[in-house]
Amino acid sequence: AGTDAGGAGGQAASRALFERALAVTPGGVNSPVRAFNGVGGTPRFITSAAGARLTDADGHEYVDLIGSWGPMLLGHAHPEVVAAVTAAAARGTSYGTPTVPELELAEEIVARTPVERVRLVSSGTEATMSAIRLARGFTGRDVVVKFAGCYHGHVDALLASAGSGLATFAHSGSPGVPESAAGETVVLPYNDRDAVTAAFAEHGPRIACLITEAAAGNMGVVPPDPGFNRFLSETCAAHGALFVTDEVMTGFRASARGYWGIDGAVEGWTPDLMTFGKVMGGGFPAAAFGGRADIMARLSPDGPVYQAGTLSGNPVATTAGLTTLRLATPEVYEHVAKAGEIVKQEASAALSAAGVPHHVQSAGTMFSVFFREGPVRDFDDASGQDLTAYAAFFHAMLDAGVHLPPSAYEAWFLSAAHDDAALETIAAALPGAARAAA
Ligand code: PLP
Repeated sequence: AGTDAGGAGGQAASRALFERALAVTPGGVNSPVRAFNGVGGTPRFITSAAGARLTDADGHEYVDLIGSWGPMLLGHAHPEVVAAVTAAAARGTSYGTPTVPELELAEEIVARTPVERVRLVSSGTEATMSAIRLARGFTGRDVVVKFAGCYHGHVDALLASAGSGLATFAHSGSPGVPESAAGETVVLPYNDRDAVTAAFAEHGPRIACLITEAAAGNMGVVPPDPGFNRFLSETCAAHGALFVTDEVMTGFRASARGYWGIDGAVEGWTPDLMTFGKVMGGGFPAAAFGGRADIMARLSPDGPVYQAGTLSGNPVATTAGLTTLRLATPEVYEHVAKAGEIVKQEASAALSAAGVPHHVQSAGTMFSVFFREGPVRDFDDASGQDLTAYAAFFHAMLDAGVHLPPSAYEAWFLSAAHDDAALETIAAALPGAARAAA
C-alpha cells in the first residue's frame, strides 16, 4: 500500500504539482486529509469534474466517491447549477447588502427543517462556532458537551480530547487551542446514555449546550442508537441546556430534511439549534446555523450576541446552494439511496469473498465501510479498524479508476449522477481491491 504503482498509469503531473504545492503550502494541501497521509502516495490534482467523474492532471478519470466530502449531491458541474452560478457571477459577485438568493436559501432551509430563523455563514466551522457562542450567550453558561469522534470543524472549544474520567473536562485537542478553551468542554463516548446522565448530574447547571452530529459521519457512519437523540434532547431540556444538532454533513443529504427528517420528525423532538453546510452550498462556501426564534433573537443585530461576515450569504454561493436544493427532489434521494444499496452490497460481497473483516453502516442515504467487524457504536470501536487494509484497498480502487476518500473514517458519498456506468466501474474495481486488502 501507499505506492503510486499500478494500472492507472503515470502520476507525473500530479507529482510535479504536489512538489510545487509542498514548497508553498504546509503538507501541500489546504485541508489535512487531502494529503493522503492516511493511505500513502501522492494526492491527485483534479483539473475538472463532471457528473460522477473526476479527471486528474495526468488525464486519468475516476468515479468519484468523495463528493467534495459531502456537498455534491447532484454530481459535479450540474448544468443547471453551473448556469445559475454563471448568471449570478455576471450580476456581480458580492455587494455587502441584502440579496434575493440569500433570502430564498434561508426560506428553503426553514421550509425543510424545524429551524424558525437561520443565519448564513461561509463554513461549517463558522456555523458550529457561532451556534456555541449563541448557546452560551442565551443560557449565560459556559460548558459545552460533545462526543468523541463527532467532528464539528476546527473550533477551539470543539477540538478537545476526552479528560481522564467520564464526566471530567477535556484537554486541548491541538497545540494552539488553549487549555482554557478545551477546559470548558466535556467529551463523552457516543451512544453512551450513562455517560451523558453522569455529565449532566455533575455539571448540569453550568452546561450551555450539548452538540452532537445528528448522525455521526466523521468516524465513519455511526448512527445514533434508536431513541438516543431524543434522550439527549430530553436531558438537555431537563437541565436548561440547549440541544444542538450538527447537520453540516447529514443536512439535505441523509434525507431531504436531513437526519432530523428520519429521526426527530418521526419521534417528535426538535433541536434548539442546528448547523448546516456542505449540500446547502452546492459546492460553494455557504453554511448556516438556526433554530428557535427566541434563541436566534439573541443574535446581533436583534440581540447582544455578536456574529457577522463580509461574505456571509454571498450571492454566488447562495445561488449555487439554492439551485442545488431546488433540484434535490425526492427522486434524487431515491436514486442516491438505491445506488448506495448497490455499492454497499457489492463492497460487502467482495470483501467477504476475499476474507476481509468489515462492516457496513448507514444513516439515511449515507453509509461507510468499516475495515473491522461490527457493530461500530462509538469512536473506540471505529478506531479498531485495519488501516493498512484500507490503504491497500484505497489504492487498488484508485488504480482501477475509483476515487474513495483517502481516509478509513469517512462516508462514501454518492450522487444523483452516479449512473449505471459509474456503478459498473465501481463493481468491476471492488473484487481486486478486496483481494489487495486481504
Ligand atoms: N460539522 C460536521 C458534521 C462536519 O462534517 C464538518 C466538516 O466536515 C464541519 C462541521 C466543518 O465544516 P467546514 O469544513 O465547512 O468548516
